[in-house]
Amino acid sequence: MTMPVLFIGHGTPLNAIEDNEYTRYWERLGKEIEERHNPRAILVISAHWESEAHFVTGEEKPRQIYDMYGFPRELYELRYDTVTDPLLAGRIYELTGARTDTSWGIDHGSWSVLCRLFPEGDIPVLQLSINRLATFEAMFAFGELLQPLRDEGVLIMGSGNVVHNLGTLQWGETRGYDHCIRFDQTIRDAVIERNLPLLFHPPLEKDRRLRSFITREHYAPLLYALGATRPGDRVTVFNESFVMGSLSMTSYLFSEPSA
Ligand code: ZN
Repeated sequence: MTMPVLFIGHGTPLNAIEDNEYTRYWERLGKEIEERHNPRAILVISAHWESEAHFVTGEEKPRQIYDMYGFPRELYELRYDTVTDPLLAGRIYELTGARTDTSWGIDHGSWSVLCRLFPEGDIPVLQLSINRLATFEAMFAFGELLQPLRDEGVLIMGSGNVVHNLGTLQWGETRGYDHCIRFDQTIRDAVIERNLPLLFHPPLEKDRRLRSFITREHYAPLLYALGATRPGDRVTVFNESFVMGSLSMTSYLFSEPSA
């Protein structure tokens, strides 16, 4: 059975330990995916690993990376122990030419979500880096190369945020700014309609205060995930809401219509 593809809006690392509408959805979704699809491994494209080519993690026991600052101690004590799938690293090399790189591990873009989706930690996890030199179109094309993995038991998961402007975040704000909501909806419609030209050239404002993102790395995982989807996939939009004004949690599940 063909594996679904996910794009998760990961929000703040606190989602690893908080109980909220997002994490409750992740918990339900993880159970459903395990029951229906029983993934052999998970390949995560996290916003938090950028390099100047594509690499995959390859350590036998991937290192958990606490790449966030100023959060409660509980978060730095949280363990998400996983293993790698060495055959998968080889298969990714075969499909894409991406080599392994043991200098990175499983960062909070992965573990803060995976610890809620798959709390047992018994499914091997690999991460693929974002190539910061690639265009969005090239990221999508790279995702296309990963498509066969869906028929080999691999769950492909992009983890980022469609709207991610740290400069305009407002702690305590529970809604999204109007301009950010509009952008998020435009992207949502484009994902549903598979409007690739728009997704490759998202309509960003010139004014930095009105931009839905300044740097590209949190949007990028969506393009990799989309590349791995097929035109007939059913799109489910979930967690479509905002925190702190300019951080959207909007997420997508792409699955075969029969699944
Ligand atoms: Zn992030």
